[in-house]
Amino acid sequence: METKKRVIITEKIDEEGIKVLQEALEADVCFNISREELLEKIHEYDALVVRSVTKVDEELLSRATNLKIVGRAGNGVDNIDLGAATQRGIIVANTPESNTMSAAELTIGMLLAQSRNIPQANTFLKSGKWDRSPFQGVELYNKTLGIVGLGRIGSLIATRMAAFGMKVIAYDPYIADERFERFKVEKIERLEDLLRTADFITVHTPKTKETFGMIGEKEIEIMKDGVRIANVARGGIINEKALMEGLKSGKIASAGLDVHEKEPCYGNPLFELDNVIVTPHIGADTKEAQENVGITVAQQIVNALKGEIVPNAVNLPAIHRDELMAIRPYIELLEKLGKIYYQLYQEPIEFVNIDYWGNIAAQDVEMITIAFIKGLLEPVVEDKVNYINAKLVAEQRGIRVEQQKIKEHYDGYMDFIEIKIRNKKGTFVLGGNLSSKRQGKLVKIQGYEVDVNPSDYMLFIQNMDVPGVIGNIGKILGQEHINVATMQVGRNAKGDMAMMVLNIDDEVNQETLRKIMDIENVLWAKGIKL
Ligand code: NAD
Repeated sequence: METKKRVIITEKIDEEGIKVLQEALEADVCFNISREELLEKIHEYDALVVRSVTKVDEELLSRATNLKIVGRAGNGVDNIDLGAATQRGIIVANTPESNTMSAAELTIGMLLAQSRNIPQANTFLKSGKWDRSPFQGVELYNKTLGIVGLGRIGSLIATRMAAFGMKVIAYDPYIADERFERFKVEKIERLEDLLRTADFITVHTPKTKETFGMIGEKEIEIMKDGVRIANVARGGIINEKALMEGLKSGKIASAGLDVHEKEPCYGNPLFELDNVIVTPHIGADTKEAQENVGITVAQQIVNALKGEIVPNAVNLPAIHRDELMAIRPYIELLEKLGKIYYQLYQEPIEFVNIDYWGNIAAQDVEMITIAFIKGLLEPVVEDKVNYINAKLVAEQRGIRVEQQKIKEHYDGYMDFIEIKIRNKKGTFVLGGNLSSKRQGKLVKIQGYEVDVNPSDYMLFIQNMDVPGVIGNIGKILGQEHINVATMQVGRNAKGDMAMMVLNIDDEVNQETLRKIMDIENVLWAKGIKL
């Protein structure tokens, strides 16, 4: 029986999460473990679960010789040395999705509360007064909602507010067009155009150098008169001073803020204004969000140890779960295609260029490129190479990697991925796409058109396109009891050179390859394992 992989949990997570870990792994719950004890024991574990206190630094990681993943129950990863983990190919994954629904629902609450003055009317009535006139509101129906940042939370809000009959537009320069189409959101190319047209504006970007203060005095000036604003993302994305001025002048009708430039926040002048609704950063504070954190971190650990890609790995490109599903067949294909080069050639690589043509160009393709590099380096790199460190290892070996997205369709293909690998002597070219059943196919190799689902064992043969060669190859393979599953011959012109690509059921040995190469008009033959 296979021994179970081991996980150590050093800080408190939800019981449900611990159950998930215990079912799949040998889980040690050690909430009070000392630093010394952890340093001593860490080499025994495949996974580590922490919150914000356990220091996962160079010293700990250097001793963690079996560690494959660090799971952070929560968001911030300040206590984890990401560089040191990446260098060792250790995944660091957090749980940013666990509270997205809670934050989205609070944002919607902020929009509704503002449009109907609910908190103000509540205070008014409870103070013993009865009057409707100060509280006349506006409907959300038929209004334009401008979302800045169409990530996890932004997109949840988009679909929900569309159900309210709002027209939803969004500005997010960093995501694929396909994401706008999927959420039926109109893509706005420039922030100022969103600010000019929206009746309600809500921000859902991370707090970065670029986004901190991205909505200030100048931006407020171009907004519609009577605009309503929500910030449930991070304090300071909307400059508080400019917001204050806008609210006081009546340019901005109202604002709903869960987050504040300084937190905790007590004497903020914004709190004095009647048209401002505030909450003390409660976006993630629901029973469900807290349970989700524990379960999500546990599931990520279990999946990562099964060798699956972890969507929330912070040392991988950020990718949304459903987008990952859409590109998964390409990831699998390119990893296989990556393994071909070094099994055919020994020449060091200088440059890898990947062109994404057609529909696939609308997707986030970074993970596909990484998969190719992982496959490429695996046959030749002694150290562990995985999705996390593949690009870093390529860089360390002097391989430059570039990718391009080209919206046009290549040669009639709906999708086409063209890979060029340049070495000192020339360029090796591969092309791949998906079949109608979404199975990965090799469709071009060195200018020859083929149509092959790459299998575990393959044979590549270059020969002159003259009668008799195919028959002789078949004969030798038959004599060696190697079954040919499929055989494709690509040639450019009759009588010219041809490339044969065979899927075979077993590995070919050197003796068999020699016999094939001895056939007249065969230039070379190589067996590879994917
Ligand atoms: P996400 O990473 O899924 O989405 C953020 C989006 O912002 C991305 O699509 C990104 O491309 C986009 N973006 C980045 N820079 C941009 C820019 N300059 N202009 C326009 N778009 C830009 O993040 P998420 O999970 O949706 O979280 C959104 C925000 O909500 C974060 O700031 C997060 O910290 C915050 N949050 C707050 C609470 C709370 O308690 N109030 C809870 C959860 C999340």
